[in-house]
Amino acid sequence: MTDRKKTSEPGIIRLREKGKVAVRGKIPAGVMTAPQMAAVARIAEEFGDGTVGLTTRLNIEIPGIDRRDAGAVAERLREAGIEPGSTGAALRSVVACKGTVCRHGCCDTQGIARAIEEQYGGCVLPWKLKIAVTGCPNNCARVQSNDIGIMGRRFPAFGAGECNGCGACETVCREGAVRVVDGEARYTEEACAGCGDCIAVCPTEAIGVAAEGLRFSIGGRSGRVVRDGVEADGLAGEEEGAAVVGRLLDYFRENARPGERLGDLMERAGVEEVFAAAGMRPRR
Ligand code: SF4
Ligand code: SF4
Ligand code: SF4
Repeated sequence: MTDRKKTSEPGIIRLREKGKVAVRGKIPAGVMTAPQMAAVARIAEEFGDGTVGLTTRLNIEIPGIDRRDAGAVAERLREAGIEPGSTGAALRSVVACKGTVCRHGCCDTQGIARAIEEQYGGCVLPWKLKIAVTGCPNNCARVQSNDIGIMGRRFPAFGAGECNGCGACETVCREGAVRVVDGEARYTEEACAGCGDCIAVCPTEAIGVAAEGLRFSIGGRSGRVVRDGVEADGLAGEEEGAAVVGRLLDYFRENARPGERLGDLMERAGVEEVFAAAGMRPRR
């Protein structure tokens, strides 16, 4: 099972100015309560320079803190329900797009991110590992550039009811995967991105759901080296998705060399081995 031990001083980041640090607080799925925001503002005024930064992984960062106050700041964040972390060789904060509330969302992105955080958040690994969850092919969370990317997909089943030829599905489909011919919708599966938008706009419920779930990509990264992850075949349910993440974290912890990202390990060990460890197959 994944080692849930935490890094020694999670969330404390040295700054350019000698003796000063920033303290990073993890914000699961990037959603804070108003009292948490007020608590962070008070901490920033009391210990920092009165500013609060937001990171690309949806965390907060309070800069300008005296190194000797870092422990007290971390404790104050914990009192507000915010865990310091997302630094060093560990599972970094799971990024989620707004798919839970977004009209395009095909899955509960924030719920999935929170569930992963609750089960594995901050676990110690040979090196950093980044996960992002996005709700639809619009891909606002850019999942392919994460070690583990998770994308919600919903594929249509045409012919589930009476089609009146209104053309709403053709208008909404950016892929050109549906055309109205002779007053009836014609669907091209190979062109479909699985966004589910046609299902939502159909006024007669003529379009059902053929399949929906999570499409994984593995081994992506950004930074000095940029690499897209390899897409998995098929779709996982939300529960199965959490199990896939657990298996990949276990495999990474047991097999990666210090400083090696999951994609580097995949290059060394082979795509087939990593996907087998995840319990999936790569998409061809
Ligand atoms: S990826 Fe899709 S579901 Fe997520 S915020 Fe963007 S449009 Fe909405
Ligand atoms: S699911 Fe999206 S891409 Fe596929 S046919 Fe419908 S609108 Fe087009
Ligand atoms: S939106 Fe529905 S009713 Fe309108 S053309 Fe498409 S399938 Fe037919």
